[in-house]
Amino acid sequence: MTIFYEVYGNLYVNLTNKCPCACNFCIRTQGDGVGDGNFLWLECEPQIDEIKKDFDKIEIDKYNEIVFCGFGEPLERLDTLIETARYIKSKTDKIIRLNTNGLSDLIYNEPTAQKLQGVIDVVSISLNAPDSATYMQRCNPRFGEKSFDAILKFANDCTRYIKTVIFTVVDCIDDGEIEKCRKIAKESGVEFRVRKFQ
Ligand code: SF4
Repeated sequence: MTIFYEVYGNLYVNLTNKCPCACNFCIRTQGDGVGDGNFLWLECEPQIDEIKKDFDKIEIDKYNEIVFCGFGEPLERLDTLIETARYIKSKTDKIIRLNTNGLSDLIYNEPTAQKLQGVIDVVSISLNAPDSATYMQRCNPRFGEKSFDAILKFANDCTRYIKTVIFTVVDCIDDGEIEKCRKIAKESGVEFRVRKFQ
């Protein structure tokens, strides 16, 4: 079972394969792994003792930052993510980033951003569409049309509790949409990044 793996000099964390979306561009439809994590499908979700044990074997100094990402939505395991991040923070001062689809308020039916305060340094939220209809068609969220507004609210909440908040889009969407997303990021007071679609 691969919990930790390396991508571009960063240490990635794979906690779950669960996700409330089925994005048209999901990396999970392109293969079984990424970076040196050749197989990121989990037979069962790793428990905190296994996570700590695997982390303790890692030479953390060789990595730039730690990234909660994996083959699923990391916030599907919010409590485990917090406990893992807290443990990592007790061992290193490396930046801890979370890559998320921003739908955790809908997963838990309550605001969640504040829970990340003090354990996550950077939150990178996949926006991927300039409006709800496009988001629905592109990401197929199980929560339906309220998803897009929930992402905007989550990002806004994050700005209160997390130092760096970023909206990202994949570079395979058209330039006009990218610019609209850039404008949404600006209006939301968060950073914006176009990430490469593999
Ligand atoms: S949110 Fe991420 S993990 Fe989930 S389907 Fe979309 S790309 Fe895949």
